[in-house]
Order: sequence, then structure tokens, then C-alpha cells
Amino acid sequence: MKLAGMPKQILELELNQRLPVNIEPPCQLRCTYQVFDHESYYKLTLEVESNLTIICQRCLQSFKYSYKNNTNIAICSTEALAEKMLHEYETIVSENALVDLKEVLTDEMHLYTPKNHIDIEACSKDVSQYLGISS
Ligand SMILES: [Zn+2]
Repeated sequence: MKLAGMPKQILELELNQRLPVNIEPPCQLRCTYQVFDHESYYKLTLEVESNLTIICQRCLQSFKYSYKNNTNIAICSTEALAEKMLHEYETIVSENALVDLKEVLTDEMHLYTPKNHIDIEACSKDVSQYLGISS
């Protein structure tokens, strides 16, 4: 993609491959991204928003979650460069600067979505008691 230098792009998309178990499909995202051309790498900025349904992995009840996250990703041409960038950014190695945004966003879902009810008090009492007895 030759996106460097372009203004912010807004994309609505639905993820359906490799979704983490804690997200109930459909996983529809609104993604704002922009690519900056640096000397030795491209910087991809991502702003992702979504109203997700999360399945708590503790009590297995689902709940609505308003997801919002900003990430900066360095798209590097070599592993060595990617390693150097790691302290500053998340990195992707791509020789030709081609990036599959769906892959990137799916990885992000794995990393940044909550696996459980954020407040343990919100976990279904019945199920957690049941689990307590059975374990
Ligand atoms: Zn829960």
C-alpha cells in the first residue's frame, strides 16, 4: 500500500478469523488510521473503536464493552530494525510495507480486550459459586 502522506482514513470492518474466545461475534470495528513515512520505517497510527460483546472467561456471562484504543505500530523492513524499534512501538516486519489491517486488528483484539468482567463483583455469583464448589 502506498498510504504514507495520505490523510486519516476511516474504515468500518468486521473481523471473523482467529477471533479471541472472549469476543462474541460479530466483531465490528471502526478504525481510523494514518501512515507516516519515516526514513527507515513506516509508522502506522491506529484508533480503534467498537461496541463489543465480551464473554467473561471467569463466569462465562457476556457483557457489553465499549472498546477504544490507540496504537502506534512501526512497519519495519527487517527483523533487526523491528527489534530496535520495540522499546518504542509495536512492530510488524514487512519487506514491502504491505500490511493486512485485519490481521493487525485481530492481534490487537487478542492483546487489549478484557478477558473477564473488569469488576469481579460483576461476575455472575451463581456460576462463580458453582465453580468454587466443583473445583
Ligand atoms: Zn464474569
